[in-house]
Amino acid sequence: MIQSIRGFRDILPGEVERWQHIEATASTLLQSFGFREIRIPVLEKTELFCRSIGEQTDIVEKEMYTFPDRKGDMLTLRPEATASVVRAYIQHKLFAANPVQKLYTIGPMFRRERPQKGRYRQFYQINAEVFGVSSPLMDAQIIFMLATLLGRLGIRDCTVHLNSLGCPACRPGFKAALAGLLTRHTGELCEDCRRRAERNPLRVLDCKVPGCRQALADAPSMVDHLCDACKEHFASVQNHLETLGVPYILDNRLVRGLDYYTRTTFEIQTGLLGAQSAVTGGGRYDGLVQALGGPEIPGIGFAIGLDRLVELHALVQEVSGVHPKVFFCALGNAAQRMASEWICRLAAEGIEAEMDLSDKSLKNQMKQADRSLAPLVVMIGENELAEGQAVIRDMASREQHKAPIAGLLDVLRNTGK
Ligand code: AMP
Repeated sequence: MIQSIRGFRDILPGEVERWQHIEATASTLLQSFGFREIRIPVLEKTELFCRSIGEQTDIVEKEMYTFPDRKGDMLTLRPEATASVVRAYIQHKLFAANPVQKLYTIGPMFRRERPQKGRYRQFYQINAEVFGVSSPLMDAQIIFMLATLLGRLGIRDCTVHLNSLGCPACRPGFKAALAGLLTRHTGELCEDCRRRAERNPLRVLDCKVPGCRQALADAPSMVDHLCDACKEHFASVQNHLETLGVPYILDNRLVRGLDYYTRTTFEIQTGLLGAQSAVTGGGRYDGLVQALGGPEIPGIGFAIGLDRLVELHALVQEVSGVHPKVFFCALGNAAQRMASEWICRLAAEGIEAEMDLSDKSLKNQMKQADRSLAPLVVMIGENELAEGQAVIRDMASREQHKAPIAGLLDVLRNTGK
C-alpha cells in the first residue's frame, strides 16, 4: 500500500469542518479590516526565496523543497507566502493606482523540518500583508486584529510578544555588540549557533538550547540600540496597543527566522501546545519590496499557523459535523426513481438529502439512515406509491406520520425552518 509522505497528512471529513469554520471566521474578519484575498502559486523560482528570506536562514539553508524542472530551471515549493505576495504586488504593479494594498491568502507551505506534533512538512498558513503604510498605528491594528480573531474563536491563554529589530541605520551597531559577546562565549554555544554567530548572529538569540540561553543571559537588547526614529515608532506601537486594550510583553529575544524584518516584530504564543508555542508571527519589512525590484514601499504582515490554530480551537470548542436533512428509504424501482429525483431537486436548492441506491432491505436502509444523522426519514414503497402517501419519521421523537406525496417536497423544505 502506498502511504502519504512523512510530514504530509490528509485532513479528513469530520476534521475539515473545523478548518472551514476557522478559515471563514478569519476571512470575514480580515475583510472587515479592509483586506482582499489574493491567490498565488505554490511553486516559484528558487531565487525569489533566496533573495527575500535570506541565504543564511534555516529555511533557505536546510528546509526548502527545491528541484530542477525538466528544463533545468530551479524551482521551490513555497516555504512561506510573503515573498510571493510581494512578487505579485510588484509584477502586477498593484502599487500604481494606490500603493496602499491590504492582501491576504490562505494555503499550504512546505518546509523540510523534522516532523513532530504541531510541525509538519506541508502546513497551512493564513497570510496577510499591508503595503504602503509606514505608520506604527498599522502595526498595532494588525496585532489587535489577530487578538480579535483568537477571541472570536474562543481561544484564550495566548500572549502577544513584541520586539523591534531596528532598521539598517541602527541594527548594525546592535549586531556588532552581539557578535562581540558571541565571540567571548563561543565555547558554550551549540554547533548551529557557532555557525550562526558568524553569519547571522541575531538568530542565536532565539535558540532554545539551554547552554546557548545561559551564554546569552546578559546579551545586549536591540531595543537599547534603536535609533531615534525606530524608538519613536516602537513607542507608538505600544501606545496604540494600550489604547486598543491589547496586552503584550516585550520580548527582546524575538528575532524570527527571516532576514527581511525591520522594526516591529511580534508573535502570539500559547502554553497549550507544548514545544510548538507560536501560533502566529509577523512584522514589518520596510525594505523588502525594494529588495525584490519594486519601488521603495514599506510593508508589514503576518502568518497564522492554521494547523496550530485548529489544534487550539479543538481544545476549546466543538464543531458539529455536516449531515443530511433527510434520508429517503425507497423500496422498489419506481420509489427509488422518485426519491432520486427529490434528492436532486432538494440539493439544487441547497438542502442535503441522501438515499441508498443498492436495493437493501428496509431494515438495513433504516440502519443507514440512523448513521447518516439525518433528523428526518421518508419511507416509500409500492404501497405508499399506490396510496399517494409517504411515511415521514422524526428520528429524534421516533414519531411518524403519513403525508401526501404530491406536497412532500414542500413539507421537507419547511420542516425545521
Ligand atoms: P513563520 O513563517 O516561520 O513565521 O511561521 C508562522 C507560523 O506558521 C508559526 O507561528 C507557526 O504557527 C506556523 N508554522 C511554521 N512552521 C510550521 C510547521 N512546520 N508546521 C506547522 N506550523 C508551522
